[in-house]
Amino acid sequence: MPFAKPRDDKPEVPHCPDCKTEMAAVLSVPLAYAPGFEDVFYECPTCTHEVKRTAIPM
Ligand SMILES: [Zn+2]
Repeated sequence: MPFAKPRDDKPEVPHCPDCKTEMAAVLSVPLAYAPGFEDVFYECPTCTHEVKRTAIPM
């Protein structure tokens, strides 16, 4: 397949910057000052590296 189809059915999942493993969402925190937005925390299952992404409502 020459082109990868965009995955519209679920939010983008970050990959670990250290070991490139697909990270797992461990916590989401709604932003009180921005209804519909939330901070999502991801953790690498391999090396426990953590990142935070802000999810934007569609
Ligand atoms: Zn990792």
